[in-house]
Amino acid sequence: MKSEAKTVIIGGGIIGLSIAYNLAKLSESDVVVLEKGYLGNGSTFRCGTGIRQQFGDEANIRMMKRSVEIWEGLKEELGHDVEFTQSGYLFLLYDEEELESFKKNVRLQNKFGVPSRIITPEEAREIVPLLNTDGVIGAAWNHTDGKANPFKAVFAYAEAAKRLGVEIYEYTEAKGIKVENGGIKAVVTNRGEIKTGRVINAANAWASKINEMAGVPVDIPIHPYKHQGVKTEPIKPGQIEPMVVSFKHGGVYLTQEANQGGVIGGYGLKYGPTYDITPTYEFLRGVSYRFARIIPALKYVNVIRIWGGFYAETPDGNATIGRINEIDEFYIAAGFSGHGFMLAPVVGEALAELIVDGKTNKPLDFYDPYRFERGELRGKAIQMG
Ligand SMILES: Cc1cc2nc3c(=O)[nH]c(=O)nc-3n(C[C@H](O)[C@H](O)[C@H](O)COP(=O)(O)OP(=O)(O)OC[C@H]3O[C@@H](n4cnc5c(N)ncnc54)[C@H](O)[C@@H]3O)c2cc1C
Repeated sequence: MKSEAKTVIIGGGIIGLSIAYNLAKLSESDVVVLEKGYLGNGSTFRCGTGIRQQFGDEANIRMMKRSVEIWEGLKEELGHDVEFTQSGYLFLLYDEEELESFKKNVRLQNKFGVPSRIITPEEAREIVPLLNTDGVIGAAWNHTDGKANPFKAVFAYAEAAKRLGVEIYEYTEAKGIKVENGGIKAVVTNRGEIKTGRVINAANAWASKINEMAGVPVDIPIHPYKHQGVKTEPIKPGQIEPMVVSFKHGGVYLTQEANQGGVIGGYGLKYGPTYDITPTYEFLRGVSYRFARIIPALKYVNVIRIWGGFYAETPDGNATIGRINEIDEFYIAAGFSGHGFMLAPVVGEALAELIVDGKTNKPLDFYDPYRFERGELRGKAIQMG
């Protein structure tokens, strides 16, 4: 293990790896990534794979528009297929209030170049013939949203970062951060100490612990909540290509994996704050019922796996990304709730630009870690899938 590095990133999930890769791409390759388990074992490998630009606020729409542009070219850029598929996102809408709010979102999305639109229940059924549209009065549809394979994306980012000179240490836990006179001196790990002047906290559900280690004086509320995922046995390919979401049914979301044919998804049941991720029978019952409500044919399909993972939640459901002013060269990119996987490419790009160039054209102000202390909550981001 290196005893010195210009930058130490704590957290080997998709966010930490994307930041590492993007720093190296901007010629800042003296970077070490510390991961206390194996890469991706935090939330990233436990996610629902969804990638969407259908948000209800300007910042998340602009960030995701750029992220999707990067996802589109990621296979070529990183040299590995991450199975990004633009199979769309379909939000089922059941009453006038929901319809009006999604119409408003669509107008905003269109303003920033996202080709979403409101469609009829009949059109929704053309996209997913197995869909139960009882009670559905419309749907919000965007064909450029999609999904990708988190296992392959983590591998692709890690390998590309390593090729550019980044060193990645798995099973290496940050245990302490030495700060003197407002500047970082070293990160203490279970395998020894790394002298460094810059730390990036990409520990997501554990981010508050890392802030504590460094003595970050500002209150950045990020708490771990257990959310669960489910996967079924494979069904005939191409049955449920888009991500289908219904808030009416408890925030259920589901999609069929392009490569393996199983249906994966989850719903809004959450527990916490907790670091316990044991899957629950309550979830299995709840998700099975909701899947069958949306796609009745799924009644006859076996569940093969359920698992737990974290939404690292802030009070407004948006991440905290930026510099911590009181400690020179301490940055945070954490608290991604249910949408850190989709945002990872643009977050890596934006934070690397901020660090290397001192500025970025992405709307990082929206994710200002100081907003909570100022009592400035953002509008709650759309959470599911
Ligand atoms: C059920 C479920 C469904 C989801 N669905 C979606 C979805 O469809 N789309 C989407 O975009 N997002 C989804 N998410 C959210 C997404 O998984 C996360 O937002 C994203 O993975 C965050 O990435 P990350 O790198 O910040 O965090 P993580 O992947 O959790 O990485 C943080 C890493 O930090 C490491 N770490 C912590 N402390 C230390 C330490 N002291 N030293 C060293 N390493 C440390 C951890 O081990 C962990 O690997 C879902 C999440 C869940 C649980």
